[in-house]
Amino acid sequence: NGFSDYKLSSDLLKALDKLCYTQPTEVQKQVIPAALQQKDLVVKSQTGSGKTAAFGIPLCELVEWEENKPQALVLTPTRELAAQIKEDLTNIGRFKRIKAAAIYGKQPFERQKTELKQKTHIVAGTPGRVLDHIEKGTFPLEKLRFLIIDEADEMLNMGFIDQVAAIMEELPKERISMLFSATLPDDVEKLCDKYMNDPVQIEI
Ligand code: AMP
Repeated sequence: NGFSDYKLSSDLLKALDKLCYTQPTEVQKQVIPAALQQKDLVVKSQTGSGKTAAFGIPLCELVEWEENKPQALVLTPTRELAAQIKEDLTNIGRFKRIKAAAIYGKQPFERQKTELKQKTHIVAGTPGRVLDHIEKGTFPLEKLRFLIIDEADEMLNMGFIDQVAAIMEELPKERISMLFSATLPDDVEKLCDKYMNDPVQIEI
């Protein structure tokens, strides 16, 4: 298996086998080792390149199973993408029994609130609803140490970039941030400059 070079736990390697991921894609080859070293990353790559697993594999590896509060937040522009990421991370983390949740608009707030109180390792969500939970105090942030911003340019196009920045203001400062985008417009670069810690630049 082409993933065995990365010193991943056997639980993860078993899951990748089951998903028939035998060789890492280009973006995975570049992102997985850097992410496992816990560096901030800015990754310019297209959708369909395998980027969900590029951040999903290191996240599933690095989160601690014993911890009950969310350790990773993945922000996405759409509900569909948040749901897809929850599913992909659940599959990658299956044998480690990783619990992923999806938090997005037009779904009952109360049910999400309950879900956020239960054991959850990774939360995928859209910026508006995530910010709503943060402001109402229903998103436990104390243990959050990984932030992934997926499709940052789409967030900008859809008018979500200020909400993303507001979320970044609220998260613990001691964290790893990774941003993925097909293009890097000025407003996305500004976000990286302001909220990321000397990020490694990766271009596929
Ligand atoms: P994404 O760019 O994350 O939307 O992934 C695109 C598709 O590639 C998804 O259907 C993944 O399940 C699949 N995929 C991701 N990584 C691999 C891999 N290493 N080997 C085979 N398929 C993969």
